[in-house]
Amino acid sequence: MKTIIIGAGPASLMAATQAVKNGQEVLVFEKMKTAGRKFLVAGDGGFNLSHNGTIDDFVSYYSHIQMTQIIKRFKNDDLVNWLKEIGIETYVGSSGKIFPIKEIKPAMVLNTWLDHLKDQGVKFIYNASLEDFNNNQVFIKTISGLVSHTFDKLVLGLGAASWSKTGSDAAWVSLFESKNIRVIPFQASNAGVNCNLPIEFLKQFQGCVFKNVIVTHNGNIRMGEVLLTEYGVEGAPIYYLNPSIRQNSIEPIVIDFKPNHSLEEIIDVLSKSKNVSDGLKKLKLPNAIITWCKLYLSKEEFIDSEKIALTIKNFSITITSFRPIDEAISCCGGVSWNELDEDLRLKSFPSVHIVGEMVDWEAPTGGYLLQGAFAMGYVAGKS
Ligand SMILES: Cc1cc2nc3c(=O)[nH]c(=O)nc-3n(C[C@H](O)[C@H](O)[C@H](O)COP(=O)(O)OP(=O)(O)OC[C@H]3O[C@@H](n4cnc5c(N)ncnc54)[C@H](O)[C@@H]3O)c2cc1C
Repeated sequence: MKTIIIGAGPASLMAATQAVKNGQEVLVFEKMKTAGRKFLVAGDGGFNLSHNGTIDDFVSYYSHIQMTQIIKRFKNDDLVNWLKEIGIETYVGSSGKIFPIKEIKPAMVLNTWLDHLKDQGVKFIYNASLEDFNNNQVFIKTISGLVSHTFDKLVLGLGAASWSKTGSDAAWVSLFESKNIRVIPFQASNAGVNCNLPIEFLKQFQGCVFKNVIVTHNGNIRMGEVLLTEYGVEGAPIYYLNPSIRQNSIEPIVIDFKPNHSLEEIIDVLSKSKNVSDGLKKLKLPNAIITWCKLYLSKEEFIDSEKIALTIKNFSITITSFRPIDEAISCCGGVSWNELDEDLRLKSFPSVHIVGEMVDWEAPTGGYLLQGAFAMGYVAGKS
């Protein structure tokens, strides 16, 4: 039995891992010169391979109920055990994120995995781009021209629409649409947002990190680090709130810079200080916020402890738009779940499975994205 896999991202590589375990002959085609480019980009950031926690809590981070069933078939613990089998030890960081141990760099994870697959007989063909497919034949553009291969199973793990330089450019969407396979338009997920803070303020304080703040949007709350950028804000709480912001972009985000102090406690510190500047210093606020109070509040507001306390605890930022999709860590949108069965087979092409970010789901950063990709690859490869 022959399985052809297109795309060499983590979802596809996990499908290859399981298919070869099942005794299949496996061929992987990738349009770039090398495998796993976005996986390596993830490695440049935190490289959270997954996240610790009970399965019920874990699955609650996914946008679509279908992902719950997928993740339950290949859980965070299963991933850790499998990584150990191929020689990648992991540890759980203080935030619950699961990383490879310090000595193991991201490229080593990828190379160890690729070597493992090659040892099992998986063949890789690079500079090879999917052009078309039907239920038993795939057409691939290679440097020597268009070639066709027959298959028993085809797995497509072509990625979404961000970081196109890694190969994930969603160029496959038109092919799917020509086959009447519904693709929900891609949008940025886990992305920063442009906002209407004054340009001079953003220029002066870009790069400033606000630690342990609480960000609220439309009743949704997240604590964490927010980074001020030249265009607005980004960081884990903003990413987490992306779905909420997408649903209601008119509603501002509100930052509480002193979540451990009540409004009354802040008013108390300010009114007992010899002047406002002294009070702001005592509150150990970031410079950006002190400057904001000095420059952007009126004279009357600046001497009003309650107004300042409200600014510190309810700092409202109006969002103008998301950052361009190509900058986003991930995407929402993709092949509609209505097109797929529970083993990720295309209903209209039952020998073809679809895995990873090219399917319509989203999850926050912190290991949930890669675990989602691994689990989908596992389900397709296993079946
Ligand atoms: C900056 C950044 C940091 C990240 N950090 C993390 C993190 O710490 N933790 C986490 O869980 N996730 C993280 N992610 C997300 C994670 O990298 C993705 O979720 C994951 O790579 C998706 O895997 P995939 O296999 O679905 O698709 P991809 O990794 O996008 O792979 C798709 C592959 O298909 C190939 N391809 C596309 N079209 C064709 C075609 N027509 N023919 C042949 N091949 C094709 C592409 O070249 C690519 O190699 C991060 C992402 C970014 C951008």
